[in-house]
Amino acid sequence: MSSEMLPPLEFSEAAQGVIAMARHAGARGWVPATSGNFSVRMNDTSAALTATGANKEQLDESGVIEALIAGPRHPRASAEAPLHLARYAAAPEIGAIAHIHSIAATVLSRRHEKAGFLRIEGWELLKAFPGVTTHETVFDIPIVPNDQDTDRMAALVEERLSNVSPCHGYLIAGHGLYVWGDTATNAIRHMDAFDFLLTTELHWEGMR
Ligand SMILES: [Zn+2]
Repeated sequence: MSSEMLPPLEFSEAAQGVIAMARHAGARGWVPATSGNFSVRMNDTSAALTATGANKEQLDESGVIEALIAGPRHPRASAEAPLHLARYAAAPEIGAIAHIHSIAATVLSRRHEKAGFLRIEGWELLKAFPGVTTHETVFDIPIVPNDQDTDRMAALVEERLSNVSPCHGYLIAGHGLYVWGDTATNAIRHMDAFDFLLTTELHWEGMR
């Protein structure tokens, strides 16, 4: 699917999607201490993105900015803006991105950092992702090392993800999860599915 198939959105419409994702994650404790960030693509050149430091659980439009996908960084953009914008530049089918610091994502990403991926297989909820029709599916979720230089980390992520297809999300070691969809509604669905799968995997590993 190309970006021409994603309808362009006005800022306020895209911001509503950002707010919906942020409040959903905030209500579930996945973005503690003003962490996490969310974005919705407006068109080929810009995206609505959470501003730095915004309280996600109570986010409103004042906590959302319009960021240029390939332009200079917005002064109020989250430090992790490059990780969103590089995804939009690389994958025209992506319309919304969520980044959360859930406990399961944070623990498993660190435990499996050396392997470079987390394998998830055999769970019914894998079918929450587009094109997946059976639990007999193997997801190797890429794990990249954490880096405070987010431009450098975004370049590494895109290099890693260029070899992974299909890819619905990735983990940053000891940090959290990036997940996306064509719309904010589907990004929320994928965020819920990932959290369920990662939480299940965390319990499962603890039992083995
Ligand atoms: Zn983060």
